[in-house]
Amino acid sequence: MTWLSLHIMPTPTFTARCTSYRKIAHDVYEFTLATPQGFSFQAGQFVMFQVPLVESRSDVQGRAFSIASAPSEPELLFVAKIKQGGRAGRWISEVLTVGDDVLFQGPLGNFTLAPKAQEQQLLFLATCSGVAPLRSHIVEALHQGDTRPMDLVFCVRKDEDLFWADQLSALAQAHANLHLHLTLSQPSSSWKGHTGHVQDVAEEVIGNLAERSIYVCGGPEMVKAVRIRALEQWKIPKERVHSEDYV
Ligand SMILES: Cc1cc2nc3c(=O)[nH]c(=O)nc-3n(C[C@H](O)[C@H](O)[C@H](O)COP(=O)(O)OP(=O)(O)OC[C@H]3O[C@@H](n4cnc5c(N)ncnc54)[C@H](O)[C@@H]3O)c2cc1C
Repeated sequence: MTWLSLHIMPTPTFTARCTSYRKIAHDVYEFTLATPQGFSFQAGQFVMFQVPLVESRSDVQGRAFSIASAPSEPELLFVAKIKQGGRAGRWISEVLTVGDDVLFQGPLGNFTLAPKAQEQQLLFLATCSGVAPLRSHIVEALHQGDTRPMDLVFCVRKDEDLFWADQLSALAQAHANLHLHLTLSQPSSSWKGHTGHVQDVAEEVIGNLAERSIYVCGGPEMVKAVRIRALEQWKIPKERVHSEDYV
């Protein structure tokens, strides 16, 4: 195979069977797929599902979803925040079920961890389903024995929007270098965790932000706000500010 053919090869398409499916929070679904033979990926990458229209299954369009599982885990895990009326939202909440075969192209994207030698301390920031690729990074890094300090600031709007709190807390309890900061932007009066925006919580809980490498994922407005804060106020070089927008 020549250099040229390697670089013009289309991203392959895979078929994968849905092995589990459940609602895990208000408008948030989690599902797993059996990893198809020949498919491999790096933590932080995404796939492009071929999403049929509910009313006409032959009308198919691509929708991107980050792989939330780590490469070292046996199945592919996804989490979807449903946008009411959206194509993927309707497919996931109304059609997808255990046993279905789904088509996707991948792996895609370069929201991967930089080489370990280049980054000494990590800060992960996510809103809602933006936590997906960060879960992949954290689980994989810990699996590889990574002992660098890592903080995850994970924010959703309300108490009923929160998911994976138990599994992320268990991970943090099992690994002294991982610190979890669960945050609500519109908390109930009974909420005991952090409140506000992820970038403000980061300033409350992290001592020297300039030392951190940032991995931020979520809606474009939040990602933009974090990037500006990281570059202009925390003075983090742009090579250490990594982001993925869920447009
Ligand atoms: C690299 C990448 C990774 C991503 N990973 C994830 C992930 O892991 N998890 C995740 O949840 N999302 C992820 N996203 C976002 C995801 O790809 C979709 O954009 C998102 O799920 C919305 O797609 P949709 O087909 O449901 O909405 P679309 O059909 O694209 O509609 C877009 C908007 O229009 C509105 N709309 C459309 N039709 C109607 C209608 N008839 N009536 C009312 N409103 C309507 C929808 O509510 C929605 O807000 C990712 C995006 C990118 C770029």
